[in-house]
Amino acid sequence: MPSEPVTHEVEESDIQNGMYIGPMGGPPFPSMEGVLPSTYLDPACNGAEASIVSEAWEGAKLIVEAQTTIVSDYDYNLPHKTWLGDGLNASGKPVVEYRSKSIADNFKKLARLYGGGIDDKEIIVWRCTEGLKDEPMCSQQMGAGVLALALSAEYSGRNGHGNRVHDDKEGQLRMASFPVSTAHALLHETWHYRIVSQPRTADYATGVETTYNLARREGTRVAFTNADSYTYDGLAIYLQQTFKSRLPPTTKDHLDTLMGLDGKRPGGKMPSGKRREAVYLNKPGMLGV
Ligand SMILES: [Zn+2]
Repeated sequence: MPSEPVTHEVEESDIQNGMYIGPMGGPPFPSMEGVLPSTYLDPACNGAEASIVSEAWEGAKLIVEAQTTIVSDYDYNLPHKTWLGDGLNASGKPVVEYRSKSIADNFKKLARLYGGGIDDKEIIVWRCTEGLKDEPMCSQQMGAGVLALALSAEYSGRNGHGNRVHDDKEGQLRMASFPVSTAHALLHETWHYRIVSQPRTADYATGVETTYNLARREGTRVAFTNADSYTYDGLAIYLQQTFKSRLPPTTKDHLDTLMGLDGKRPGGKMPSGKRREAVYLNKPGMLGV
């Protein structure tokens, strides 16, 4: 059940009678309501595929709201540093400040898009075609300005986060407990849109471990242009707030470090906070590693 979200600037001739006509002609794409703004859906998509997109959108919107709405007593610093590197709010050299500003601007643009804001010349097109079923989660096979996403059968039905870990307080601390969902896939793709990320994100690392390691190894310098770094950052915030867990979900090694189970002093270079002292120091070994 593939689907391809596409963004590009619209030529006037692309929209006729409120329908999108692709550059190669073909049947008109009707507009799709209740998802991202200015969205047009391939008439080849069946009802089930359209539902996947709608459900993915609903899930992604929740993540974006968590990531871009400031809750006063929430420690955003920990997930931000975990996934986007230590240089998130760094100041000093212009290049460092440029990255910090880019991240802040990208969050604003993401919030705007998911809040329904888009320029007149920008549209989003979702296609459903055969042949993408075995594509990786993300592919950029259609050239500049166009992104393809396979919302394959593998991802369908995975909109919901956490039924499996609903009562598992320890599982909730591990990002690996949460399989990649359609919401994750859709949000990941959104981060590639030029109307969201500048510089536009690429895929230097995908998946929990690789994305975490990218932030450790390369820091904000690379992570701020990596789509999954932003995606996991949002997920970590959303999941922690949803489950009211003690920590945002992260990798096993990181969790060990945070909880002082790796032989080092708890905390290390991670940001301090009441939450950590209450949890990490008082309950060693609770993860059963
Ligand atoms: Zn990607």
